[in-house]
Amino acid sequence: MTITADDIDRMSVEEIHQLIAALTARQNDLELQNADLRSLLECHERLFEKSPIGCVSLDNNGIVQRINQAATSLLGYSSQAVYNSPLKAFIVDDLQNVFDGYLESLLNNQSAQPVNLILKNQDGDPISVECLGSSGLTPDSQEQICLVFNNISPFKESEKKLNETISLLEENIRRKTAHLTESNLALKRSVDELNHSRHQLLEREAKLNSILNASIEGIIVIDTSGIIVSVNAAVENIFGYSAEELIGYSVNLLMPITMRKKQDYYLEKYLRIFVPKVIGQIREVEGLRKDGSLVPLDMTIAEFPLDGMQYYSGIVRDVSARKLQEQQEKEHLEKLAHVTRLGLMGEMASGIAHEVNQPLSAVVNYTQVCLRFIQNENLDLEKISETLKKANQQALKAGQIIHSMREFVKPRKIHRSTVDINELIYDAISIFEADFKQHLITMRFELTKNLPCVIIDRVQIEQVILNLIRNSIDALKELPQFTQRQLSIETSLNPLYYIVVRVKDNGPGLSPIQREKILTPFFTTKASGMGMGLSISRSLVEAHHGTLHFNSKEDKGTTFYFTLPTEKALNGRNPT
Ligand code: ADP
Repeated sequence: MTITADDIDRMSVEEIHQLIAALTARQNDLELQNADLRSLLECHERLFEKSPIGCVSLDNNGIVQRINQAATSLLGYSSQAVYNSPLKAFIVDDLQNVFDGYLESLLNNQSAQPVNLILKNQDGDPISVECLGSSGLTPDSQEQICLVFNNISPFKESEKKLNETISLLEENIRRKTAHLTESNLALKRSVDELNHSRHQLLEREAKLNSILNASIEGIIVIDTSGIIVSVNAAVENIFGYSAEELIGYSVNLLMPITMRKKQDYYLEKYLRIFVPKVIGQIREVEGLRKDGSLVPLDMTIAEFPLDGMQYYSGIVRDVSARKLQEQQEKEHLEKLAHVTRLGLMGEMASGIAHEVNQPLSAVVNYTQVCLRFIQNENLDLEKISETLKKANQQALKAGQIIHSMREFVKPRKIHRSTVDINELIYDAISIFEADFKQHLITMRFELTKNLPCVIIDRVQIEQVILNLIRNSIDALKELPQFTQRQLSIETSLNPLYYIVVRVKDNGPGLSPIQREKILTPFFTTKASGMGMGLSISRSLVEAHHGTLHFNSKEDKGTTFYFTLPTEKALNGRNPT
């Protein structure tokens, strides 16, 4: 409210006093307000000066009017040096236009966002700041611009470092990614190669399977506990079982009952201890077909590890046809042997006659003695019966000789039995006693005692011995009269557990040509010879798994020797 001089004239004194009181109170208020304002201003001044943020006020031309400590220390100049200078001069050249534009926008009261600037300090170093400004009027109505500077250099530095770190990281990631991509490619290549190998393996396996299945040999794979793991098509043909009926079952299924009992108990031990010894060797065994019949087999065993497990593969070949042929050959050999035995008997006729004659003469003698006893007046029955007993024994002996001759020549089946070879030799040679006497041959026996027995066909081996002795006698007969004729027969056991029989004479021996041909059929130097004796003897010995050889030199005599395996040797040769 404005009070004019007229208003005062119209006022009463009291009213004027009241007015004066009111005005005084008002003045007091104003003075109080003034004091407040001053202290506010001072406070503002102090805040301006002490603020940690740089503050600058400019006139509307951008000339510095005021600058606080934080701003001067940012620039590195004293406040006097900056005062009244254009602030633009402290901004890097490139950003001076930006700064001008910013001041203009402030003066036009356009709402201005903070702007990033770079100040040049006294040392010429750039200082990044964020600048936020506002414009207004001074108390004397002059346009002024206030700017605050926030030092963002440390932040920029961190940002730079961060960016560097990010770049490094990005580089690292790029490198890692490149490496990973490369590894990935390599992996992909490996996977491709593996797939290729797998494909090839499958192809090879298919080929192998088709080869295995085309094989005429049965292939049975078992694990260490004797369980069948795989079989090929030939196994099905040989044994009559399908693969499904065999896989997962014990290999005992394919073994004869006798073997099976043994294997059941010992299978694990058998595979562990025995099988390694026969790996790669061909063994003759018998298999059991599904229909219960037996099948002769040639078997080889191989051992192989797979995925940390041990397996055995048995390769079996059905040898029924070969066995049949072997049997037929044996029978044929026996037929031939029989024929030659008849010939041998013919050759030994004089010896046989002598052998039989001896007991018959004795019988004649004993019976004559008996007759004389009977004609005597004093009948001595005791003597008669004693003499008759002797006659009886001699008659039996003659019968035995004839019986064994008949046995020797009659057609027969091959029969093997346990034989003491020394005994066989004594029995066989007795027939030649007359020949030895007649041709003045000294016979020597060097038979090793307690030899193990052999399992042989007695007649066949007897035939071999008789043939060798017969040949030696024939050879010795050729020696000039009164030359000492010696024949010896030896038996021994060799380190391989074969019995060795040697027939040695000091006859004329053999020429090199004879040595070459002597064992071939039909070679003979005798007028009535067949030339079959030695070749048949050799076949008979070989049929017993033995061998027949000779040593001979002209004028130095001849030694024939043959071997026969004992049971121990047979077990070593074809173990089960
Ligand atoms: P063979 O007795 O019918 O001639 P072998 O096959 O038994 O038939 O004998 C063949 C040949 O070997 C005899 O004819 C003989 O010439 C020779 N030979 C066999 N043994 C002897 C020997 N101990 N000393 C000299 N020659 C022998």
